[in-house]
Amino acid sequence: MIYRRVALIGLGLIASSMAHAMRAGGLAGEIVGTARSAETRATALEIGLCDRVTDSAAEAVEGADLVVLATPVGAMAAVAAEIAPHLAPGATLTDVGSVKRAVVEAVAPHVPQGVRFIPGHPLAGTEQSGPRSGFATLFHNRWCLLVPPEDADPEAVKRLARLWEGMGSHVETMDPDHHDLVLAVTSHVPHLIAYTMVGVADHLRRVTDSEVIKYSAAGFRDFTRIAASDPTMWRDVFLTNKEATLEVLGRFTEELFVLQRAIRSGDGEHLHAYFTRTRAIRRGIIEAGQDTPAPDFGRGSGR
Ligand code: NAP
Repeated sequence: MIYRRVALIGLGLIASSMAHAMRAGGLAGEIVGTARSAETRATALEIGLCDRVTDSAAEAVEGADLVVLATPVGAMAAVAAEIAPHLAPGATLTDVGSVKRAVVEAVAPHVPQGVRFIPGHPLAGTEQSGPRSGFATLFHNRWCLLVPPEDADPEAVKRLARLWEGMGSHVETMDPDHHDLVLAVTSHVPHLIAYTMVGVADHLRRVTDSEVIKYSAAGFRDFTRIAASDPTMWRDVFLTNKEATLEVLGRFTEELFVLQRAIRSGDGEHLHAYFTRTRAIRRGIIEAGQDTPAPDFGRGSGR
């Protein structure tokens, strides 16, 4: 057991996967959970997700030695303000938000003396959401990035790292701004591109009505899977990782124009060289064990 009592605030994909993984690994003595809606709390009770479900976040954190903020990023400041007076001295407060600088700025001012705030981000997810979507192996062989403040208690950081390792992750620490730039490249902008491509297809009504669905090829199908991700979560990601997203989008559009010109001018050599480079990146990801070479990204079976 790594923590005696873990409080999960928000019971969606990430928190429910943590609950399953902590149970599977015997990592928490007691798991307490809460969510905004009575419906989610009732579902959590019905499926036995947590040992206890409370009506409020303030109640959930009482006596917890680890508190995990697992709501959309935009909700974290209000939740932090609500729970702050109820946090146990010596407790660790963490989060799983996809953006880090904005979370640090929103949450840190509320953290009382004696509580250790160590923000985190598991690089694992699916397009599903809600308390029923979690599964114990979500974090297996995935990275979890922790962004401890400079004066963080090293023992508290090590303990949180052990929890993530116990759930199957590899842990690395990082500076919040660097995290946000890396994630803009690897996750945020790719999601925006997928949203855009599906939006473009939708605007081409003539095709959408029949052919886009009927003849949906692997490339577009994968875009639609990504573009089915939770709208609230992704709205918050772009609102809170604005600078890095705009920086990466700027580079993306420049490259896109270069490719557009190569197509217009029939520069096959440029296109071939470009696609050869990108193919090598895909191989690198597979060799690093971060995806599978199976067709359809190995996702045909669901996860
Ligand atoms: P999710 O499945 O949509 O669940 C979000 C949960 O937060 C729900 O239980 C929701 O309650 C609760 N919630 C929303 N606003 C709240 C509030 N004001 N007070 C209390 N609870 C509130 O979300 P998720 O995918 O688990 O994402 C959670 C966090 O993890 C986000 O910050 C996201 O950026 C991050 N993350 C997501 C992924 C991913 O791929 N999904 C990956 C890594 C990190 P109700 O059900 O009652 O509305």
